[in-house]
Amino acid sequence: MTEDDLATRKMQFLYALRSRGVTDRTVLQAMEEIDRGPFIRGLFAERAYEDMPLPIACGQTISQPSVVGLMTQALQVTPRDKVLEVGTGSGYQAAILAKIARRVYTIDRHRRLVREARAIFEELDLHTITAITSDGSHGLPDQAPFDRIIVTAAAEDPPGPLLAQLKVGGIMVVPVGQSDTVQSLIRVRKLETGYEYDELREVRFVPLLEGLGKE
Ligand code: SAH
Repeated sequence: MTEDDLATRKMQFLYALRSRGVTDRTVLQAMEEIDRGPFIRGLFAERAYEDMPLPIACGQTISQPSVVGLMTQALQVTPRDKVLEVGTGSGYQAAILAKIARRVYTIDRHRRLVREARAIFEELDLHTITAITSDGSHGLPDQAPFDRIIVTAAAEDPPGPLLAQLKVGGIMVVPVGQSDTVQSLIRVRKLETGYEYDELREVRFVPLLEGLGKE
């Protein structure tokens, strides 16, 4: 691909985001700054600027860019926030969060994905992200509470430990529903008196699984 081709593809990429409802300037800027290319290896690398999910290692997927944008937008991240992401995958979503938030913790059940994501964060000088191998459905009690929590794998219900680790006034975005069907993207706000739920749109994510992965 020539420099010109790359520039054109990146422009089309941003245009596709806007036309699919990603309108928040801070989110668009973060997505302009973080190149999706390095997060995709092998055969699919040349499709990095298309608005589609793509396969990554360990049988997982990097999410569709417009869905990453819409979820980040729904999370209403501010520069003061400490954010937890469950489902590091390629590390792309965490990198975008790191451009906006003060601190990002990201967890995946696959050791290999965490190792590869860490290497990319290092390469891109993203020093405010900590990537951890663990079962993220238990959250990260040591670092709790969080201002924002984003789950990028589908749960049957918003996991209780994650709700507990959210600050009052905090927001969590999580796809909810049975795996391999259409799921609903839910936004949960934690209030003094309970939780407020908003259903945002239909999405399709890999399932949130228990325990650690094989590699
Ligand atoms: N946010 C990623 C895409 C996530 S794909 C990106 O930007 O590329 C969903 C990820 O959730 C997979 O990598 C999968 O291994 C992980 N996952 C599933 N169940 C999990 C669990 N219980 N704890 C931590 N990670 C989990």
